[in-house]
Amino acid sequence: MNWITIAWPMVASACLTLGLIELRIGLTQPPRAARLLFALSAFAVAGIAGLELALTRADSLADWWPLMRWLDIAVGVMMVSLTAFIWVYFGTGNTWLALAVPGLYAVGLAFDYLSGSGPGSGMTYQQITGFRTVETFGGVTFNLAEGVPNPWNVFPYLAVLVLIVFVVDASARLWRRGGRWRAAVVGGAVVVFFLVGGGQAALIETGAVQMPYLISWAYLAILVAMASELHADVLAAAQLASRLQDSEMVLQRLRSQLAHASRVSLLGQLASALAHELNQPLGAILRNAEAAELFLAQEPPDLDELRAILVDIRQDDLRASGVIERLRSLLKRRSLAPCALSVGDLLSTVAALTRGDATARKTRLEIAAAPGLPLVMGDAVHIQQVLLNLVLNAMDAVGHLPAERRQVTVGAQRRDERDLEMTVSDGGHGIAPEQLGQLFEPFFTTKPHGMGIGLAISRTIIEAHGGRIWAENNTSAGATFRFTLPLVEESTAP
Ligand code: ADP
Repeated sequence: MNWITIAWPMVASACLTLGLIELRIGLTQPPRAARLLFALSAFAVAGIAGLELALTRADSLADWWPLMRWLDIAVGVMMVSLTAFIWVYFGTGNTWLALAVPGLYAVGLAFDYLSGSGPGSGMTYQQITGFRTVETFGGVTFNLAEGVPNPWNVFPYLAVLVLIVFVVDASARLWRRGGRWRAAVVGGAVVVFFLVGGGQAALIETGAVQMPYLISWAYLAILVAMASELHADVLAAAQLASRLQDSEMVLQRLRSQLAHASRVSLLGQLASALAHELNQPLGAILRNAEAAELFLAQEPPDLDELRAILVDIRQDDLRASGVIERLRSLLKRRSLAPCALSVGDLLSTVAALTRGDATARKTRLEIAAAPGLPLVMGDAVHIQQVLLNLVLNAMDAVGHLPAERRQVTVGAQRRDERDLEMTVSDGGHGIAPEQLGQLFEPFFTTKPHGMGIGLAISRTIIEAHGGRIWAENNTSAGATFRFTLPLVEESTAP
């Protein structure tokens, strides 16, 4: 065991590891072609490292010659894949230069494979003259072939030169387009690699230096540059993913706040409507109870009157529990469950729900539904929520007017064969023309304490029903919000 047998496998495993990582990522993530080509070059260099190591041990022609042929192939694969990688990754480059790289290298290889060269001669050496054992640092020895350089070997070196020109040219183009960092780091690393690796191989093959091949070592420069470059993409993607996750969570939180807010506001409406509707039967029950006390105080008590009072009380009680039951059913269902609905019922529930607000804000709520309207298909709770939003917005819009002009009108009319149109109009401040397109966007609000979600929810609900919602300014004053709902086929309200 010496440092050569440790160092080369380390280089090979670095290449293999990065190659595998890029292969794995390249199968699913962009830039896919660039990653796969880079992985191929890294695998080729891992092979080159193994062959370089084996060559330091080869001391006979029989061992050396096949290794050298494989090395020629591996270097060819590495050169072509790196050329293609730069081309794809930079998205630019001179086509002719790019094609010249494999062309020139193939001419060199052709000599190896087609010219009938056999053991003892090949692309690198015309004739092997022998093997030398050379001692290097730490007394470690390695073997080196000696021979007469082959003039055909100029072609692979020409290919290397053309590749360098191609990369410099592609880097300059990318630089001009603004990809300066990538051009400098990746382009620079590839050029350094070919200058160092090619130069060192040339020095060995001309006998100028006596060293093992260091092509795979020079590749480490590319490995570092590319790893940082390509991983920056992965990092950016990961950051993006985590940012998306964060916003997803924010959205989720907002959604639940929203659900809560609308539920709370609906509950508020329900509470005041409940109080209003219960007041009447409860008051009647109280008055009847007081009357009953008076009748009981008479001597003898008027049993007939008392019986009639008890009937009244029972009826009022039933009415009160009916009111509670009807309003409670509004709260029960929250998911969309469309069924045939009477427009009249929808409007009277909304009127009941907003009566408290209307009184408090001194605003008149007018219901103007055309008679005999057909049934619509929808989820009552959701449609009521939409009407509620629109009516409360309209009340906000007329809030600044003198009390006698504060009016909101809710209307319903048949639009065509298939749709019914509901409208909520007010004579308020209207909508600024530049805001007409944004009203239904989530979080768009012009109110100091507004949330800007009412209309966005309304649009979601109406579109989920297959309808459309929009707003327009009235010619006189204020705005009208309209939405459509599908009619139940062949139906008319009872
Ligand atoms: P919020 O009421 O919380 O602002 P909405 O989504 O219900 O959220 O409304 C968004 C915006 O649409 C309001 O801030 C307001 O500018 C505008 N708007 C809604 N209804 C009316 C209306 N009837 N008249 C004028 N502007 C309106």
